[in-house]
Amino acid sequence: MRYAILADIHSNLAAFQAVLADVEEKGGVDEIWCLGDLVGYGPDPGECIELFRKRGHLCVAGNHDWAAIGKIDTSDFNPDAAAACQWTAEHLSAEDVGYLESLPLTLCHDDFTIVHGSPREPIWEYLTSTHSAKVNFGRFETGFCLVGHSHIPLVFEYGESGNCLLQPFEAPIRLGGDRLIINPGGVGQPRDGDPRAAYAICDTEGKTIYPFRIPYDIAATQEKMIRQGLNPRLVARLSYGW
Ligand code: ZN
Repeated sequence: MRYAILADIHSNLAAFQAVLADVEEKGGVDEIWCLGDLVGYGPDPGECIELFRKRGHLCVAGNHDWAAIGKIDTSDFNPDAAAACQWTAEHLSAEDVGYLESLPLTLCHDDFTIVHGSPREPIWEYLTSTHSAKVNFGRFETGFCLVGHSHIPLVFEYGESGNCLLQPFEAPIRLGGDRLIINPGGVGQPRDGDPRAAYAICDTEGKTIYPFRIPYDIAATQEKMIRQGLNPRLVARLSYGW
């Protein structure tokens, strides 16, 4: 089977469309897996949900998905994120809300656990250090765990001796050896200094997961954000990938 692994689309329709076109160009996939945060920050929440639901997919909830439907309050969000959440909440249809409400926190499929933040704290925890990753390797049963939330492409590898290694997810990774926690990076708001959309394709027969970076029409998303009165800092960060 082939799966496209997408995280943190964040209502960025132009980035999402560019990734879907790239998936098709690469021969398509059996299913799209979204690691949470379909919405929040960007100008097209409803359009992104609709486009995503047209495909065979799996999806877990992210903190922005829950905040947009009032399942968590935004007091822990920074002011820009909280304001974007409020805007998103005002632009979701009842059907969109119902879909976001239906999303689970954790899914397991094949040898993969799928969460937004971490197995220990699916909604909130950022996995960016080997210290926190090491604890989380004890919190899931499968060989591999897919996470989003930090918007940074990373791989944590848990060695037999109990040591945990961290590396950027920049080259294809073989599945089948050590247990791994993999973050494909963010589609709609990359934060590793590269503004291109990030995603991955997992080929379970070839036992390999491939990272990709895809240019998209950043200006198109930014123009919509400005028209909608979304925060200029959120507009600007898309140019820089932070
Ligand atoms: Zn996010």
